[in-house]
Amino acid sequence: MVPPAPAVRTRFVWSEALLGYDFGPTHPMNPIRLDLTFRLARDLGVLDAPGVEVVGAEPADDEVLVTAHDADYVAAVRRASTTGEPDLDRGLGTDDDPVFPGMHEASARIVDGSVRAADALCAGEIEHAVNIAGGMHHAMADRASGFCVYNDAVVAIRRALDRGAERVAYVDVDAHHGDGVEKAFWDDPRVLTISIHESGHTLFPGTGHPTDVGGPHARGTVVNVALPAHTSDVPWLRAVTTLVGPLLRAFRPDLVVSQHGCDAHGLDPLTNLAVSIDTQRAAAELVHDLAHEVAGGRWLALGGGGYAVAQVVPRVWTHLLAIAAHVPVPRDAPVPEPWREHAAAVFGFPLPERMGDGGAVAARPWAEGYDPADDVDRVVLATRRAVFPWHGLDELYD
Ligand SMILES: [Zn+2]
Ligand SMILES: [Zn+2]
Repeated sequence: MVPPAPAVRTRFVWSEALLGYDFGPTHPMNPIRLDLTFRLARDLGVLDAPGVEVVGAEPADDEVLVTAHDADYVAAVRRASTTGEPDLDRGLGTDDDPVFPGMHEASARIVDGSVRAADALCAGEIEHAVNIAGGMHHAMADRASGFCVYNDAVVAIRRALDRGAERVAYVDVDAHHGDGVEKAFWDDPRVLTISIHESGHTLFPGTGHPTDVGGPHARGTVVNVALPAHTSDVPWLRAVTTLVGPLLRAFRPDLVVSQHGCDAHGLDPLTNLAVSIDTQRAAAELVHDLAHEVAGGRWLALGGGGYAVAQVVPRVWTHLLAIAAHVPVPRDAPVPEPWREHAAAVFGFPLPERMGDGGAVAARPWAEGYDPADDVDRVVLATRRAVFPWHGLDELYD
């Protein structure tokens, strides 16, 4: 692949048209979270950082969408989008994925942002890209699921493979299992999918067990960490660092694609994890560092879940944008007053004063030993036992 020589280093995919992905006022995934994130990033100067470009997106064509979806599913989304009629066999019109006018175009626009970013990364035009409207990791080839209509991550990874990437690593830190991406590449040895999520025993979609390691041609390229409910900062970060680092170094991807759903936070109304802003920021830094270390810097970061739309999402994703722009925002930086006033006026409750919430940013290295009495250590060890041998790694010491 072409080495990057960018005057523009980092692309942010953004335009107000992306706010059109809107399931309605009572749905948890309120697009205001995207608006609040870009307002916060702008107020902190992140959008004006050197080497940053902000580009919009247009609805992706069908020939792009069918690289991840069945043609008759795409036709069904378009039909529902126009008629407003549900198509429950395809997951359209459920409580999770209500039909809304323009659903096809809004969903296809998210895909375009991610796939054009993949193009630019493969061409060496940019080094990093962030599409926080993306990360629609639950969408399946033939149906909508879990607030996701079209799977932009799958389309972007397929495009990178078509453009010459030999291996792509996908890292998903959303509280929910990244099932749609995993399924798309289940038996594809070119794509390593790692999902760190709350166990399917307590959370949608119910899948993502450590013994799910990929198909017969791709054993060990599917990695699942199924954390117990209430997992907090240090054990969560220990799970992320002790799995993602060794696996990415062993896999040596040409491109890192990551999904930064921020619904693992303790304030998130839909999940049962308790991971602070600071710790999620540390995970983004880890992925960024690894992209430079193992993939020549090529990194596509996506959004995902996140339903504490004022208290949590804007801060986590502003940190992500700032890290990708090489102007990281300190955790103790004040939240700019104009943003706080704006958000307080919209929501009617006070907003945080600092960019972090005092969480942990480091975890003990695995090689220093694990604790068999610790719930999370046992989960991490189960995953390491299931996949590390396929990569020539030692489950206890790497
Ligand atoms: Zn989620
Ligand atoms: Zn960088």
